[in-house]
Formats: sequence, structure tokens, C-alpha cells
Amino acid sequence: MTPVWHSPLLSSFDWLDHAFLPAGERPQANAIYNLQRHTAVVVPDSDALPVKSREADALIATGTRPVAVYTADCLPILIADTRQRQVAAVHAGLNGALKGVLINTLRRLCEQGARPESLFMAIGPAIGPCCYELGEDLIARTAKENPHGLAPLLPFSPLQPANPHARRAQAAGTTQGVWFDLPLLAKRMAMREGVPEAQIELSQICTYCMAEEQASYRRNSHFHHGYEQRFSWISRRQASGNGGFSEA
Ligand SMILES: [Zn+2]
Repeated sequence: MTPVWHSPLLSSFDWLDHAFLPAGERPQANAIYNLQRHTAVVVPDSDALPVKSREADALIATGTRPVAVYTADCLPILIADTRQRQVAAVHAGLNGALKGVLINTLRRLCEQGARPESLFMAIGPAIGPCCYELGEDLIARTAKENPHGLAPLLPFSPLQPANPHARRAQAAGTTQGVWFDLPLLAKRMAMREGVPEAQIELSQICTYCMAEEQASYRRNSHFHHGYEQRFSWISRRQASGNGGFSEA
């Protein structure tokens, strides 16, 4: 079993807890998560109960219950705002990212008192550029439609990047397409919103060729050995003492 991945960046804050769980492991019983539909919808957790009642793909915590997302190859993104001590969880595949789910979440946090420079985010295990082949027609169409002005940020290569850390075979090319770097797209999007590069951490764990066997939806579509969701969650700790949130 692949161990839980903790972001060193988020682990540096003593007012929150978080984890990127391996495939098949359940989050805490009180974790809140949405009915994810690759939308751009972000909701406060208070509007997302009971669990899986809201069709949305990002959650901002209002209390201390964990907010979670479940993913296979999509990006699980956990965000902390050190200014207001807000936390958020985002599920972003390519569709959701292009629709603006991450942008909407970062902007909502800023509307609620964060500043781009007070935002820290960790992008957990997801399919890497080593294994994520897309048709060139999709890239061409996206570049033409240019959703949210994202066309210049699309990271892809006609050549499949070798992954020196692969634990099993990388995905075999099937469509003569391009190899797309979804985690890097999210990083570029956050940087465009003003989040400092040093405050964006990538796990660099590819669900297809590096994570536990059941982590990848795409790999299962190639080998049919089954897959299970991976949950990622973040929670704010109960305020103690004077409760003063003074960190800038
Ligand atoms: Zn890979």
C-alpha cells in the first residue's frame, strides 16, 4: 500500500491538518465532499450538507470539519490561506480546470479576505505528463476557444516524457497525440492569479506509473484491474488560546 502523502509545504502550518490518502482509503467520518461533476462550482461546506448532495467541485471550509475531494487521475488540490486561516479542497481534471474551478476557488478565497500572496497550495498525486496523452484535436480546439484566456498556459509536448521515477510501465501512446502536463497547468493558473511560485507544491507522483495499482482510472481503462478513489482532505484546527489570527 502506498503511504499517505503529506505536503511538506502545508505541513509547515500548525493550524491545519491535511492528507492525500492512497486509493481505497476513506477519509474521516465527518469529512464533507461534493457530488463532483467536473464543474467550476465552488461552495462553502455549510452549503454542501449532507455529503454528496451538491453538484460542485470545490469546497471552502467554514468550520473545522475536513473538506475533501476524491480523484482518480484528476488533480486533488488543497489550499491554505494564512491570512484568514481558510482552507479549501478542489477537484480539477482538465475539463474542470479549463472551466475555471481552480480560478474560482482562489478568487473566492480572496473575496473572503485572502490575498494571492497569503495562499499556499499543494497539488497531490494525479496523472503526469509521462502518461497523459490527449488528442491533438482537443488541444487545437482548446487553444482556439481559449477559455479564461488559458490557451497560452497549456503545457504539452509531442514527445512522451520519460519518467525516471516510474514504478511500472508508463502509458503507451495510442492516438499519436500530445502529452499533457495537467499539474503544471494548475500551477501556471495559480501563478497567473498571483500566487507566488514558491507557495505552490507539486507532489510529482503520477497515478498511472508511480502510485498504488488502483489509483488510475486511465490505467484501469487499459488493463481492467479495477480502480478506487483517492481522497484528499484538509481541515482547520480548532482555534485555541486567544484565537487571534495575526499572521499576515
Ligand atoms: Zn506516469
